[in-house]
Amino acid sequence: MGDYLTKIVRNKIRIGIVGAGIAGLQAGIRLQREGLSVQIYEARSKPGGRIQSLHVQGYLVEAGPEFIHGHGRETIGLLDKYGIAYLPADGKMYWVRDGRFTENGGMVAGWDQLLEKMQTPDADLPLNQFLEKTFPGKQFSPLKEMAIRFAEGFDLADVQTASTMALGKEWALGDMGTFRITDGYSTLIQAMAEEFCSLGGEIFLKQAVDSVVWYPGDIQVSTRGNHHFQTDKLIISLPLSIMCQEAPKGEQISFSPSLDIQQEEMTRIGFGTVVKIVMIWDSPFWETLIPEGQYLFSNGFIPTWWTQYPSHIPLLTGWLGGPAAGRLSEKTDEFFLEKSLESLSSVFSMPARDLRKRLKDFRIFNWKNIPWSRGAYSFSQVGSAEAKALCRKSLDGRIYFAGEAYYEGPHPGTVEAAVISGLDSAALLLAELE
Ligand SMILES: Cc1cc2nc3c(=O)[nH]c(=O)nc-3n(C[C@H](O)[C@H](O)[C@H](O)COP(=O)(O)OP(=O)(O)OC[C@H]3O[C@@H](n4cnc5c(N)ncnc54)[C@H](O)[C@@H]3O)c2cc1C
Repeated sequence: MGDYLTKIVRNKIRIGIVGAGIAGLQAGIRLQREGLSVQIYEARSKPGGRIQSLHVQGYLVEAGPEFIHGHGRETIGLLDKYGIAYLPADGKMYWVRDGRFTENGGMVAGWDQLLEKMQTPDADLPLNQFLEKTFPGKQFSPLKEMAIRFAEGFDLADVQTASTMALGKEWALGDMGTFRITDGYSTLIQAMAEEFCSLGGEIFLKQAVDSVVWYPGDIQVSTRGNHHFQTDKLIISLPLSIMCQEAPKGEQISFSPSLDIQQEEMTRIGFGTVVKIVMIWDSPFWETLIPEGQYLFSNGFIPTWWTQYPSHIPLLTGWLGGPAAGRLSEKTDEFFLEKSLESLSSVFSMPARDLRKRLKDFRIFNWKNIPWSRGAYSFSQVGSAEAKALCRKSLDGRIYFAGEAYYEGPHPGTVEAAVISGLDSAALLLAELE
């Protein structure tokens, strides 16, 4: 009876969530389950945010996330809950230097020592300063280059500002296996959106929020289409780029009273970008050159490539991440296509014009230019832990923040981070209802 009454009372409490990315959906499901009445306002025409699976020439193409890293317990828990199939992506790693492929030959001497030193408390300097201070001298150049490459390529970090300790914590987790969702990451979003709606939650699509007035009285959320929603509490679950006013004016949101303090703090968390290039070929011609190959690293302009191993489908994905991707974000798709062909030509020792003939289709996802995202994912800068801690608090028990950028822990910038953040924001809101 007590539970029943609590649910009736809670049902009168209106919760708004801005953003139907996975963090917003996860928070919505949790709150709707607790008997609250939840509405989500989303700018795009579908939920999922940075999670976008599409089909090109009959092949699954992930514009955004593609992998689940083995330690992603919450994400794997969700896949198991919804009965969504996932498979290991456990092929080999190749390096190419001077036209020769070396299997797993990438890790340089001293890597373990580097990881250990990165986690000592006095290490929290920007990565480039830490490397120069801890590993001075030319003999460590390969180690330093590898660390910078990893930070920029994988974490999309700017090594001038990135927190050495945060990177160290993440890298120390090591490889616990990588998985792919067989029918695409968007199947997870679909399952979550269905669960949320079946619990009574509502998602309003194509509703780009442009202003939030949260005092006095009800919180009023207004959208560019001139729709107005009233709510009692609001979770803002947006990419950091939008919150830090890095997006064009037409994608920014005004808050009244202002959130200047929070928004200022948010600029202390880093947000990186990437250009992801998906190329579909007449056949998986690389298979004889790099048997069971999954990743392929080189010093080419597009330095990282991966296959769809263990599937034998003719699709290669290129990845140019970090500050370089930001600097080149104004370049055209044709520019990235040329650079991709050039890079692959050097990797596989094949003329670029022959490669072009074999290319059936391609897609370039230049995330800095993608509306409602304006970048790919966050990385920790020195000092960002305090900023994140502030953003994990509510404003007067009325405004909450969720999203991958506010997560603090060993899985930064991931779907896992977003799910955990969504759950944490819902838990805080529930705790503050008591
Ligand atoms: C290219 C790429 C590759 C990645 N690879 C991986 C990977 O392999 N593994 C992994 O775990 N993670 C990966 N990630 C990171 C992962 O995708 C994100 O961490 C996660 O999806 C973020 O979820 P979120 O809910 O925090 O944010 P988002 O998904 O960005 O959700 C925010 C939502 O807010 C909406 N929105 C924005 N502005 C407004 C507005 N004004 N009004 C209303 N709604 C608005 C957006 O449309 C979006 O739906 C990758 C990301 C990218 C871009």
